[in-house]
Amino acid sequence: MLIADKIYSTVANKCPRCHSGKMFENNNPYNFSNGLKMKESCDHCHLTYEREPGFFFGAMYVSYALFAGLFILWFVADALWLHLDSMVLVSLVAASMLILVPVSFRWARSLWLNFFVSFDKSYKSDSKVKNNNKIISG
Ligand SMILES: [Zn+2]
Repeated sequence: MLIADKIYSTVANKCPRCHSGKMFENNNPYNFSNGLKMKESCDHCHLTYEREPGFFFGAMYVSYALFAGLFILWFVADALWLHLDSMVLVSLVAASMLILVPVSFRWARSLWLNFFVSFDKSYKSDSKVKNNNKIISG
């Protein structure tokens, strides 16, 4: 499943090509020391994450879309069930956006990379990775 692969890679902090290596050094985005630190390449299949200089500027558009989705969710929930005072609603939207900045940062980068790289089962096993290393070294 193409979409399921991309969602798994994004949510589980996995390399989009092999689903074995991790994209970020720490699984916890709220870890202040290295929660937002991204690895340069996959430990397992050696995919370089930043494909060109400035590659992750495009992730800003994904982040914008994620927050727009959150914004829409809040307003739909308010219109259908919550019926909050407008200032309370604006405060809740702003607070939830601030709290979710680290998650959005990571998901936006992962989704952006997932637009360009697809999951390849053959990279999950060690055989293709070893063959790939031979090609690079030899
Ligand atoms: Zn990988």
